[in-house]
Amino acid sequence: MTQTDALPTDALVVYLSCEFGLTQNLPIYSGGLGMLAGDHLKAASDLGVPLVGVGLFYAHGYFRQELSPDGHQVAAYDRNDPAQMPLQLVTDAAGEPLEVAVTLVGEAVRLRVWRYDVGTVPLYLLDTDVEGNSADARAITDTLYGGDRITRIRQEMVLGVGAWRLLRALKQAPTVLHLNEGHSAFVQVERLRELVNVKGMTLDEGLDALRRGCVFTTHTPVPAGNEQFTTELISEYLTPILTEIGLPLSRFLELGRVTPDGDGFGMTPFALRTTQAANGVAQLHGEVAREMWAPMWPDLKVKDVPIGAVTNGVHAPTWTGRPVAALLEGAGIDVAARPQDTPWGSARDIDAAAVWAAKNTARQELITALPGALEGTGASDADIATAAGLHPDALTIGFARRFATYKRAGLLFSDLARLERLVGDAERPVQVLFAGKAHPADSEGQALMAHVVEWTRTSALRDRMVFLVGYDMDLAQRLVAGVDVWLNNPRRPQEASGTSGMKAALNGALNVSIPDGWWPEADPGTGWTIGDEAWAEQGVERDAKDAESLYALLEGEVVPTFYDRDADGVPVRWIEMSRNAIAGAGEFFTTARMVDQYVREYYVPADRASRALPTGGL
Ligand SMILES: *Cc1c(COP(=O)(O)O)cnc(C)c1O
Repeated sequence: MTQTDALPTDALVVYLSCEFGLTQNLPIYSGGLGMLAGDHLKAASDLGVPLVGVGLFYAHGYFRQELSPDGHQVAAYDRNDPAQMPLQLVTDAAGEPLEVAVTLVGEAVRLRVWRYDVGTVPLYLLDTDVEGNSADARAITDTLYGGDRITRIRQEMVLGVGAWRLLRALKQAPTVLHLNEGHSAFVQVERLRELVNVKGMTLDEGLDALRRGCVFTTHTPVPAGNEQFTTELISEYLTPILTEIGLPLSRFLELGRVTPDGDGFGMTPFALRTTQAANGVAQLHGEVAREMWAPMWPDLKVKDVPIGAVTNGVHAPTWTGRPVAALLEGAGIDVAARPQDTPWGSARDIDAAAVWAAKNTARQELITALPGALEGTGASDADIATAAGLHPDALTIGFARRFATYKRAGLLFSDLARLERLVGDAERPVQVLFAGKAHPADSEGQALMAHVVEWTRTSALRDRMVFLVGYDMDLAQRLVAGVDVWLNNPRRPQEASGTSGMKAALNGALNVSIPDGWWPEADPGTGWTIGDEAWAEQGVERDAKDAESLYALLEGEVVPTFYDRDADGVPVRWIEMSRNAIAGAGEFFTTARMVDQYVREYYVPADRASRALPTGGL
């Protein structure tokens, strides 16, 4: 990095997130948001960015998925025993466990702190399961995205307020604060208290200073993904600290509302109002987010709404499977480096036969591993037999994502007869692997999942399709490495980014995707686009059109390209696209590029702004 776009050596970025997906041995994540946070820390370590993460340690994490005999999701909760995990208890100068406290409705809840080192980046995890806390308090950090609204506000108070108290207890001097989603935004209440009550600012000075040095990333246009609390809950939990600060509740509520006459309290508006810069997670999502939050800035044109975009990426060393990683190493590519520092483009020159051999190996490794991976998950014997009987050389399509209904996991089943013809072609076989969890409170998502399981079990499809129970980081790594095609068919424009397709592309899989999230930014020569960009139209008609387009692409483009072989059996055009996918993903869709971009466009200006404050930092 040059002098002007690098952070000073004494800078410190604090990155807050309610989930982190780093390794399967530390199951404190649910899905894409957590994976992104984990990959962010890994890339920060690779690039030497001075950053610390803070999150929560969940005793039961997110649920582990099992399947009932009739194909319905069963949520199992394993206890995370910190002693069995790669965690250290953080201690104070006297060697005693470090404790910080957060007061919740009159109860001082004590937190202990676990540390997990991501290379050079420490991740601190706050845990309320401390002896001496009430049973209710001990349960606050029990499950990720579990419990009711009260649990959620308690978790978010612990995360936000607790994170800042921890940093002070550790005598850290942050210069940049990055809120990854709105869940952690209560940190700003604790910071305001400090600015006013400790640093002696007036309320207005404090409110102005609060934003400087802070960056917020919003992750979803789906309303349910934007955290909202009732006025009653906010009043109950925040009044004590607001009284201390001297900030009237009514004024605080306005900070969490799109317009002053709105109701409830939204963490996204609050985060937008208390940070100096904000961004969405793909160019299209930036546009959608500006439109969505424009009513907060009635005097601005939508294009001037202060929400930018940093397109997500994935951590290439984590997500590149062994066969493709070996090819890249052979081509002199350092997968951990910033794209400008390593020759990703040379992936386009790797010998086609070598790429094809690597892809065959990767698919075979995936298929060989599946029956074992399904043992003990509640998968039926018949499902395990299907997995064992999959064809090692057949065109293999992967669809693995949360069963949120907007992701339309059932789209491929819109016309069963047509699907049967497609997968049942004896000369050009196609097989499809499904995976994904539905949130335990999302009954629609669970019903959809049960339908998908049922469809894959019908006699005409069962040899070629299987639902893989227990989508997690391990299974995701196997799938993205081994499949030929990654399918993504959400309702546009609800998929803010989607990162699984980037992981697949890094491994040379071709994406078949709705033009949503990251996909419009990808090189069109690395896959196929379902439907068109018209997004005014929604609902049943749109679904039917997209399904038609999906079938037509699979029949007319994907299958013929995959099975069009030269004299040596190599699908030449497919491999050309596959090499483009690898190079294109490496050149842009990695967290090495993403973190570098955050540093230059967001952290450096934030660092300068916080240093210009009378406090000389945060
Ligand atoms: C990458 C990943 C996700 C996010 O994928 P989307 O494309 O956003 O659906 C979710 N879960 C796991 C386990 C992942 O590895």
